Amino acid sequence: MLCGVLALQGDWAAHAAVLRSLEVEFAYVRTARELDEVDALILPGGESTAMLRLMEEEGLAARLADRVRGGLPVLATCAGVILLAGNIHPPQPSLGLLDIDVERNAYGRQVHSRVAAVELVDELGATDEIEGVFIRAPKITRTGADVIVFGRLDADPVLIRQGGIIAATFHPELTDDHRIHRLLVGEGAGHGR
Ligand code: GLN
Repeated sequence: MLCGVLALQGDWAAHAAVLRSLEVEFAYVRTARELDEVDALILPGGESTAMLRLMEEEGLAARLADRVRGGLPVLATCAGVILLAGNIHPPQPSLGLLDIDVERNAYGRQVHSRVAAVELVDELGATDEIEGVFIRAPKITRTGADVIVFGRLDADPVLIRQGGIIAATFHPELTDDHRIHRLLVGEGAGHGR
């Protein structure tokens, strides 16, 4: 399996480092053609407006929407979740592939970014918490009927799944617990934690 990492903007290098430690083959995706080569894709954190603009310039946005509708497994983190969300507050364009509403920067400014324990509902096995690094994170304010919530911070959904899309409003690439990346790339990956 070849895992793509969208590498137009944001913290794609941290995701690549996780894949390297899991010994998963990966490729950077910057063009529609590179997207066609991969079997799964990570959408990193960063700045969602800038990322979407760059994706449109590269003809990537439409191709990504096609591939996700065709079942491409995706892990979206932070700004990546905003890129996929159906509705965003304040309003901005998105790919509209996840049946959720999000509020950008809902947890306050950069100084309010924090590390917090995310309560896991199931799916990730015996451990019932995972460390969540929240950096100007979006808040998921509505989840559609097809969305499974499997991680919460206080009462808010922060880790969800809809079909082949896993979405985390925090940054699992910034801790050394790689369980969320393993959900994307499969249990067989590497010997990392
Ligand atoms: N606030 C950013 C946005 O709206 C997301 C922040 C992040 O990805 N860490 O794009």
